[in-house]
Amino acid sequence: MTDLTLVNANVLTMDPGRPRASAVAIAGGRITALDEVPASSTRVVDLRGATVLPGFHDAHNHMIGYGMSLGEVELSTPPIGSLDELYAVIARRAQTTAPGDWVVGSGYDQNKLGAHPDRDALDRAAPGRRVWLRHTSGHMCVVNSAVLADLGLDRDAAATEVPGGRVATDSGGRPTGLLEERAQLLVGSLVYPYPLAELTDAIARAAGQYLREGITSCTEAGIGGGWVAHSPAELAAYQAARDQGRLGVRVELMVASEVLHGLGAHAGDGLVAGLDLGIMTGFGDDWLRLGAVKVFADGSLVGRTAALHEAYAGDGSGRGYLQADADELRATIIAAHRSGWQVATHAIGDRAIDVVLDAYARALAEYPRRDPRHRIEHFAVVQPRQVARAAALGVTAVPQGRFATELGDGMLAAVGPERHDWLYRQRSLLEAGMVLPGSSDRPVVAGAPLLGIADMVNRRTASGEPFNPGEAITAEQAVRAYTRGSAHASRQEHVKGTIAAGMLGDLVVLSEDPTAVSPDRIAGLAVLATIVGGRCRYDAGAVDGLG
Ligand SMILES: [Zn+2]
Repeated sequence: MTDLTLVNANVLTMDPGRPRASAVAIAGGRITALDEVPASSTRVVDLRGATVLPGFHDAHNHMIGYGMSLGEVELSTPPIGSLDELYAVIARRAQTTAPGDWVVGSGYDQNKLGAHPDRDALDRAAPGRRVWLRHTSGHMCVVNSAVLADLGLDRDAAATEVPGGRVATDSGGRPTGLLEERAQLLVGSLVYPYPLAELTDAIARAAGQYLREGITSCTEAGIGGGWVAHSPAELAAYQAARDQGRLGVRVELMVASEVLHGLGAHAGDGLVAGLDLGIMTGFGDDWLRLGAVKVFADGSLVGRTAALHEAYAGDGSGRGYLQADADELRATIIAAHRSGWQVATHAIGDRAIDVVLDAYARALAEYPRRDPRHRIEHFAVVQPRQVARAAALGVTAVPQGRFATELGDGMLAAVGPERHDWLYRQRSLLEAGMVLPGSSDRPVVAGAPLLGIADMVNRRTASGEPFNPGEAITAEQAVRAYTRGSAHASRQEHVKGTIAAGMLGDLVVLSEDPTAVSPDRIAGLAVLATIVGGRCRYDAGAVDGLG
């Protein structure tokens, strides 16, 4: 039985063998036919020329983090234009927060505010409360004196030594409140783990927003351990969301490398690093499955912690650092590869990227595996030779289009003019034969795919500067990234990312064709409906018979 047939549609299939169609039929949750209305159709909906694409897939996002952030103080710029405005919104939230409780904010960027918030000013804004403000990159945070006291950081200089991280201090050795990279785990020790029910609610909140934006699949970039995790039992929150009918979109979960461990399996199996019972990449089903293991090689470009070969531009703030030493990173990556995992390593700076490419090359040479499809997340400052090497190794790079707009000015300042055209490549990756996925890293920046697609085409910073414009791609290429490219990065291109018979019935209906309008109009197109598994899960009310 056919559940839904869309007719009079402008269908962009992303299938090179059959790029366009005017009708698409779905039955039993899968696409069954193009350009025809099956005789068994019970529901035929006239789209009156609206555009249909494969549902968008965000290949790198933090779904729980985003869902939680919806309840936190919004510190992004805009709307927060200065540190004084930031302190004012923190003071307002403190008034409705009980003494001793937490005021949590997220999204501030010191590049736009002039400096990181200061512990003493936060103490004045929120007397008696604990304050924790996360940087927009997620790679650092600022806390007030109450939190520093909980952590003993004022009393004990030795406690400020954190491998793979930094507790910033002033010239007198007093902590400023800024905690970088793994030093954030210190705050985590006070607030984590969160109750699973709170995480399930966060997932449901995020899913509601994703469906409004046309997202039908997303990849969560790290759960269960390290500073990105909210609970060691995070997967149970996703399973609960699914059981309760609140998952909304299909979710692939990356597993933080910190939680992999020896399994005691037969030595001949080569399972040197895994999860209990031997579950690994690919376990699960079309709604909830395990993806890659997530490894962190370095930090943030705008936060100037990412590991570069040459120093940051301007203020002599060094070359950044690796989150573990190169041997340890290599060992983690090789063990995961050998044990059958897809590996996704966060690497921003060209020095970190070299370490990761070396590790992937060694892993493939020592333990050959067909098409492991390892990934490098962000792939931000990339020398030409590194593009060629990544392509030769079959690596998928996962850059974020929206970073150009929201973080681009800070990135240009961080690398200076000589390295400008190494930033966030797209076109040269496609020209090297690599597959380009689409992703946001939400909540780091706004996550609506139409914004990301527009930014992949337009490549301008918030201040209007061109952002490595030679790497701009066409709208068609950007749409392909957010659909087929992301499916490829998840090893799921056989079930999603294109509109063809047999594929999952995941579609987005748009007011107009993003590949046919002028680039400055793409971000403003309306999502009319989002269909997952043949069921309409978001309906803007513009199409009769869909809801
Ligand atoms: Zn991320």
